[in-house]
Amino acid sequence: MKLIAIRKYFLIVTIAFSFQNCGWLVDIAFPLEIDKFLGERFFKSVVQGENNVKVYKNQELQNYVQSITDKILKSKEIRYKDEFPYKVTLLKDDDTINAVCAPGGYIFVYTGLLHFVKNEATLAGILAHEIAHAERRHSTKQLSTSIALYYGLYLTLSYVLGSELAQHAANLAGLSTNLLSLANSRSAEEEADEFGFRYMRSTPYYPGAISEFFKDIQVWRKEQGDVQDTNLPLEKYLSTHPMDEERIAENERRLKEAKIPKPNPKSFFRERYRSKISQYLGEKAE
Ligand SMILES: [Zn+2]
Repeated sequence: MKLIAIRKYFLIVTIAFSFQNCGWLVDIAFPLEIDKFLGERFFKSVVQGENNVKVYKNQELQNYVQSITDKILKSKEIRYKDEFPYKVTLLKDDDTINAVCAPGGYIFVYTGLLHFVKNEATLAGILAHEIAHAERRHSTKQLSTSIALYYGLYLTLSYVLGSELAQHAANLAGLSTNLLSLANSRSAEEEADEFGFRYMRSTPYYPGAISEFFKDIQVWRKEQGDVQDTNLPLEKYLSTHPMDEERIAENERRLKEAKIPKPNPKSFFRERYRSKISQYLGEKAE
């Protein structure tokens, strides 16, 4: 009996590892419920003050960021808008320039990002990129080995150890990953940029606006003398979103290929953004 269980375990482990390089396998084998389960569980842990983050309760600002998200969600290219909530939660941390979308469409936006970004279209570009991470199930794919191992371990250990101990072991081996610091692979980033660009095309915003953010990052880095300090706000962003010249060039290529005309300054909604941010968020605390 035990031998059979152990053999089964190794079979499951082998299958689990094969998930790692086959994103399509996840799309077939993992129901969307897994994404929703992971996202909801993570959302609850954030609301309860775990993960070293603080939810920023500011309904007006949250509604404003949600309204930008809702404009992106009108895109026909977004497949899971009825399945995933695509709900925005603000996180109070002026020193973190980042946004994250957990599986199942739970979007987290740091106040540091809202201060750093200069216009509505650029924030929309970043949100579209984040939505693409959830749509393409990047975190689920990245965690697929752990997810498969988790269930594999649970099933196997319940044979070997009995269900109570197995539950305990499965919890230990469980998905304790902090999704806020889960780094994306380069190919996931490329895909999120590509799909984010597609979503942006049906909005009132300039679809290439995310480049403004990339350029501001470069200026900021030069000003800082290209120091690599992981405590700096942008390094926190860069640790989850690898960035280089190539990503900027790719965005330019997309704009050219889609024959997007040069932007009209009005399509950035700079003034509206500035007035809303200063009204709802105020100045950044030094
Ligand atoms: Zn990303």
